[in-house]
Amino acid sequence: MVRKFMRYPGGLGKAVTLSYDDGVQQDIQMIALMKKYGVKGTFNLNSARFITRDHVYPEGKVWRAMIDEDVVPTYSDPICSIATHSAHHPTLTNASEAEIAHELLSDRITLENLFGKVINGHAIPNGPYDEKTIKVVKMCGLKYMRTGKSTHSYEYPKSLIPLHATCSHADPRLPELTERFLADTPKEDPFLFYLWGHTYTFEERNNWYIIEDFMRAVSGKADVWYATNDEIFDYAEKYDQLECSADGHIVTNPTDIEIWFKVGSRIVSVKSGETIRV
Ligand SMILES: [Zn+2]
Repeated sequence: MVRKFMRYPGGLGKAVTLSYDDGVQQDIQMIALMKKYGVKGTFNLNSARFITRDHVYPEGKVWRAMIDEDVVPTYSDPICSIATHSAHHPTLTNASEAEIAHELLSDRITLENLFGKVINGHAIPNGPYDEKTIKVVKMCGLKYMRTGKSTHSYEYPKSLIPLHATCSHADPRLPELTERFLADTPKEDPFLFYLWGHTYTFEERNNWYIIEDFMRAVSGKADVWYATNDEIFDYAEKYDQLECSADGHIVTNPTDIEIWFKVGSRIVSVKSGETIRV
């Protein structure tokens, strides 16, 4: 038997990704910061909550949904990907299976038609979920389901449904975890620093510096892959498709991309359609 551990494209052992909810107007400023620092992420949208340009919010209202005409231009930027967050943002544990399916599928179908691409991630609205939620998320063909739970770990997640984040940007442990992540080296499974939150809270608490400090700290590192949620989980799905001989020494890559992994102290790759010995 040969022990192999996934490595990201280029043989990298660490990845950083963001996950931001609700599709609010402050996402525009967030995307500008992501582009400045080269940090990628995924925005989880409620397609039934977008507003028209003439909508007027009460004075001082911080939570402001994205204007419908701005949705596609904003989130089509390659620095981000899109996932579902339910159409209307209900608490799913109060809903029947049919109601959950309606919320998830109507959001998914609307977003897929808007963006013209397959969307298969989800972030739980309001936080609570149960076995019924998990069942329906899987039935709706969604591949990952982010919760509001923090692991305070950057080990690669053992499960994608449910998928727990490293932490939220409001977590007081963020600076300490970021520092440890940057200094640490993965020995077996790769690292994934998964940060989540809502961008409207930066305006509400006047603390955009929290996310800018984070992005500045993690950006430009030669050993880190900056990727959207979908890029990471799609890559991992293809890694899992590698075919190995019974003794593990022969590896075939049936996928359409080059796949990297660690064997002993070596980092090796197997190109699309190639068979190698390790
Ligand atoms: Zn939300």
